[in-house]
Amino acid sequence: MNARAALSEGTGALGKSCPGSPFLDAALLLGFSVNVERDRLLASMPDEVPPAALDAYRGLVARRASGEAVAYIIGYKEFYGRRYAVDSRVLVPRPDTELLVEVALSLLPPADGAAGGETSPTSGLPRGLRCHDAFTGSGCVGITLAAELPDLEVSLSDASDGALELARLNVRAVLGRDLDARAGDVLSAATAPLDLVTANPPYVTAALTDAIMAEGSREPRLALDGGERGLDLYPAVASQAYALLRDGGALAAEIGEEQGPAVRAILEAAGFGDVAVHQDLAGHDRVVEGVKRAVR
Ligand code: GLN
Repeated sequence: MNARAALSEGTGALGKSCPGSPFLDAALLLGFSVNVERDRLLASMPDEVPPAALDAYRGLVARRASGEAVAYIIGYKEFYGRRYAVDSRVLVPRPDTELLVEVALSLLPPADGAAGGETSPTSGLPRGLRCHDAFTGSGCVGITLAAELPDLEVSLSDASDGALELARLNVRAVLGRDLDARAGDVLSAATAPLDLVTANPPYVTAALTDAIMAEGSREPRLALDGGERGLDLYPAVASQAYALLRDGGALAAEIGEEQGPAVRAILEAAGFGDVAVHQDLAGHDRVVEGVKRAVR
């Protein structure tokens, strides 16, 4: 069987059993089985797939069909143009979470020293800016910020030791250096003063998490389940971030699409000003930001 026929067989099988992107999923699994990168796979469509690779591919398609994420099967996921190792100790990075990165980048002081003081010759950012990424999981948000802005001092934390191990691996693989990465719930592992806090806490309702688990997802419940309304973690995120931030520092947090008004109120109750809710590409509320303006 050639690659084209294998791809159409896999796409057909996945189209029946799991929603989403059967063609892309089959292409990733086929590329993985024959050891060809996805962008080169189209050029190898006429090539014969060796029998052992075809068997392996069919086995992977069956795993995907039973609900396992493609990223867990192939062991990585692309995020913001970089590749992250993932396994069932962490949530698979979502494309929507790139918005959290965009918002976080927009919250840093303008480049080239509008605020005065010493600036970095490479980024133009004021020197000494510090950011903490909580609930880091694979590390994708904090590592992206560190990769985009090498002068930003970034630290990471997660309540799960397993997640933290994987995040440390990704730090070294993506950045080629280390970042401070510690175990801790919410922001307990962060140290003041911070200029930016990013957080993608678990925000799925407990009932929906049950349904996701029942469908065969192997993602960690700890990374999804945000309690009855999915909002359990936000009061602690907001109050701890407020305490750790410098005056003028900002919090950016990912939220579920129905949580904009509730999380806005939680940030305002914690003292944040300029609270704004941003929509993802599908038009859903996805990220809330707030700025600490200390009362003087
Ligand atoms: N966006 C994820 C999902 O819909 C949830 C991520 C989270 O809880 N932080 O599965």
